[in-house]
Amino acid sequence: MAHLRLPISDYIREYGPHVSDSPVTGWGPKPEPDRLVETHCCFCGMQCGVKLQVKSGRVIGIEPWEEFPFNEGRLCPKGVKRYMQTHHPDRLTDPLIREGAGFRKAGWDEALDLVASKARAIQAKRGKDAFAMLSGVSLSNEKSYLVGKFARLALGTANLDYNGRFCMVSAGAGNKKAFGIDRVANPWDDIPEAGVVLLAGTNVSECFPTLTHYIWKARDRGAKLIVVDPRETPIARTADHHVALRPGTDSALNQALLHELVANGWFDREFVEQRCTGWAELRASVERCTPEWAGEICGVPAALIREVAAAWGQAKTSFLLHARGVEQHTKGVENVLGLINLVLATGRIGRRGCGYGTITGQGNGQGGREHGHKCDQLPGNRDIENPEHRKHICDVWRISDAELPRKGKTTVEIVEAIHAGGIHGLLNICFNPMVSHPDTGFTREALERLEFFCVIDFFMSETARYADVVLPGSLHEEEEGTSTTAEARVVRIRAAVEPPGNARRDTWILLELARRLGKEEHFRFSSSEDIFNELRRASAGGTADYAGITYERVEREMGVFWPCPSEGHPGTPRLFEDGRSYHPDGKFKLLPTPYRPSAEVPDAEFPLYMTSGRSVFHYLSGTQTRRIKFLVEKSPGPICEMHPALATRLGLVDRQLVTVETRRGAITVPLRIVETIRPDTVFLPYHWPEELAANQLTVRALDPVSKMPEFKVAACRVRAATRGEADRARSLFAELKLEAS
Ligand code: SF4
Repeated sequence: MAHLRLPISDYIREYGPHVSDSPVTGWGPKPEPDRLVETHCCFCGMQCGVKLQVKSGRVIGIEPWEEFPFNEGRLCPKGVKRYMQTHHPDRLTDPLIREGAGFRKAGWDEALDLVASKARAIQAKRGKDAFAMLSGVSLSNEKSYLVGKFARLALGTANLDYNGRFCMVSAGAGNKKAFGIDRVANPWDDIPEAGVVLLAGTNVSECFPTLTHYIWKARDRGAKLIVVDPRETPIARTADHHVALRPGTDSALNQALLHELVANGWFDREFVEQRCTGWAELRASVERCTPEWAGEICGVPAALIREVAAAWGQAKTSFLLHARGVEQHTKGVENVLGLINLVLATGRIGRRGCGYGTITGQGNGQGGREHGHKCDQLPGNRDIENPEHRKHICDVWRISDAELPRKGKTTVEIVEAIHAGGIHGLLNICFNPMVSHPDTGFTREALERLEFFCVIDFFMSETARYADVVLPGSLHEEEEGTSTTAEARVVRIRAAVEPPGNARRDTWILLELARRLGKEEHFRFSSSEDIFNELRRASAGGTADYAGITYERVEREMGVFWPCPSEGHPGTPRLFEDGRSYHPDGKFKLLPTPYRPSAEVPDAEFPLYMTSGRSVFHYLSGTQTRRIKFLVEKSPGPICEMHPALATRLGLVDRQLVTVETRRGAITVPLRIVETIRPDTVFLPYHWPEELAANQLTVRALDPVSKMPEFKVAACRVRAATRGEADRARSLFAELKLEAS
């Protein structure tokens, strides 16, 4: 049973997070590097190009990679400092096995044999699916592919899923429904050509900072900017129209905008009638969705909705981008489809300056979901329940259909099944559910119920503390590979250094485990390129077709856009140029998305909206960024953002410790009074663990199609912290060296 038997402070003392800013070469003059390694930052889907300075087998700094076409040397604060984790003192350097109250160091043979024997024992007693696997989607394409094959062939479990379930799945499901393909439709350099840019639920400046450059370029050429977000984010402050709607009401806004497009004739009749299906039904579905109707639901003036509809409807060219703000809902897929309807209604897609896309948040969120770890998907973005898709993969993997598991549970469902006693063993690679899962108290209870739990990671994450075995893995710069950026460009990740101490490459760990599970015959890979070449064959003929992409091409061309079905094919930066979707009939699907309320809305007991999100200084669960001093100094801990009008009504003052409560838990954090949020809504960033985890408060309700949790809406109340809560928070903050007034 994986209960924590030591105070958390003991784990922190031993394994961190400790903040570090010590240059690896000391505080004296920086030496000249031996060599520069061109690779990519993995802290968001932009995957900015960067050069690592390497000296004597160590990464000592970075230089801009100005020739890389997307970011041309530009980086955000995370990218500038990311190299500081390579030789961080918290890096795990030996396998660890739980013993007594803590862990002891072990050799690789002992640790790997233990994992294999425990997996076998649980599966022999309780069935293959009683052992599950979770994975992180910052892994390279090669590792993602390997994870998918490992879970299905070496473990033989259907229950494999990934933390992309919290990132892009609603967008992916919506894109597949409307377009028959799951990727951004245009390269980013189409954005500056757009006459209007609509950003829905995307805090671009903080979450994808280098993409902002493309929006500024559009602005320089005269583009109008529309931002839809309950918060006045940095990009919203510059917008022509900011729709600060109530959290969870996007689909009502989308319907009203479409209503206005129809009412004013701002739609492309030929496109919707010739190139699409469903126009008549869609049009009928918004007949009564007036701006006044939506304005009531969204809490914004009807006149503003009319202005936005006119700006979008009358434009000649446009680009619509969205992200987690519209996707992390119980109706995330509907929100995405509602936005796609606005794009398709105007026929502005498949041309230069006429674009659409989701902004993938995680490092390799795009490639990861195409080739590996999704419970319902096989490489090439194939459907695991489709007989033809299964046959293709079975042929590549040289197995029978009976040997290939079917669709398994999603990550929240896996945790629920562990909680309920249906899953007993878990292998987790680079995923930190103790921070990123909704309702962390429930997640903790589930982890405590596991019979056996193994984590592969390079730091001791808050989740790894619950493990029976921790295997020290590798960073991006310690293994060759590829990654796929948010614009679907496959780029090269280059090894610059070796993993520290006895840590091993993730690929080596998975191959060794496969061997010990008796499945070596399926895992005879001699290099990352070897794995990539099998991935190419597995993806061939799928929508995410990498068959024509080679390491040599990726390096020479500085990235290749998929689909790329043959080595002579140029790749596909822009989709739909022939006016056809990827559905068999070539038509785009217009689908009605009637408004429905969120799973939990404010009431008399919990009268406010709580929404969660990110800080520019942290990446996902913060396992990596909470260890880099510069980033921690800029964003030391969670805060609660609140409008001054609400603060006055509640009698609260700036920097005071407040307690935010929902039906699932409470958190005590400093208050930050800002005018950039609705007066009925509070905001908390989610990068911190345990008692500082915003996800203690979030709701475990899922989108019925994508199974994305509703991180963006919960009903809450806020009050001054009691003396006991404030004392506890201050001591916790002091322990973590955070500020608290
Ligand atoms: S975090 Fe994203 S935007 Fe920032 S440098 Fe890394 S890849 Fe680029």
